[in-house]
Amino acid sequence: MRILRTVVQMIFLGGAVALLAKGLAGVVPANHNCEAYCPFGGIAALFPLVKYKAYTCRLTELNMSLMISALILTIATKKSFCGWICPLGTLHDWLRKLGSKIFGRAFYVPRAADRWLVNLRYVVLVLVLGLTWTVWGGDLGFRAYDPFYIIFTWGGHGTLAFSVYIAIAVVAVALFVPFFWCRYLCPMGAVLDPFSRAGGLRIRRNTDSCTDCGKCDRACPHRIPVSQVDEVTARDCTNCLECMVECPEKGALELSCYGK
Ligand code: SF4
Ligand code: SF4
Repeated sequence: MRILRTVVQMIFLGGAVALLAKGLAGVVPANHNCEAYCPFGGIAALFPLVKYKAYTCRLTELNMSLMISALILTIATKKSFCGWICPLGTLHDWLRKLGSKIFGRAFYVPRAADRWLVNLRYVVLVLVLGLTWTVWGGDLGFRAYDPFYIIFTWGGHGTLAFSVYIAIAVVAVALFVPFFWCRYLCPMGAVLDPFSRAGGLRIRRNTDSCTDCGKCDRACPHRIPVSQVDEVTARDCTNCLECMVECPEKGALELSCYGK
């Protein structure tokens, strides 16, 4: 399962890197970049679509289709978009593993602070949409602050001198604090949250086979207490399946549809 997920992650991350390489080499116009394939573009386009009756900047129907696809995928499989597809999610996943190897541990934010900080992503979402509607006049002004755009265009139009520091900071922090951007700041994660809560494909714990060893809790990169629930409904579950892989008891954890 781990291998399958890694292959899928490599395909999508590889696609983003290929677009970046083509852009840097001048093989494709600078404005044909990862932005064209970003599902969050579908959300960002909503307000300008209402206000100006037109897609803003380089956004097209493709972004809208990808946004709808991401929502459907999330209703079906929780945040597997983040855990399997999003190149920035993959980058965070691999940086988390690299950081653990280098430092021998991960530096998680204390749970009391974490409970508050997770709400920051809703603030970011409101800010992005509000500023797109007002100050940026329908333009995608958040490009300059968006690590996905900055990293996978590296100097794309709309980035500013300080943008590179944002990308470096996000990468550096991800080595210490697993999924810092995804967990606390990603506006796409905020959009997916309610759909993920209702997501059908869930990890189910068979209490007859489970020995309460807690290995699944320690394996979960999102610190979900798998051993304390009958089924994982947490909005942050990306169905990465690390808990299933690490569980030593056959059949104690399995994939289910709404716990069935
Ligand atoms: S790792 Fe498996 S056996 Fe151990 S607590 Fe989790 S579900 Fe139960
Ligand atoms: S380890 Fe299990 S509970 Fe945690 S995110 Fe992955 S699939 Fe979900």
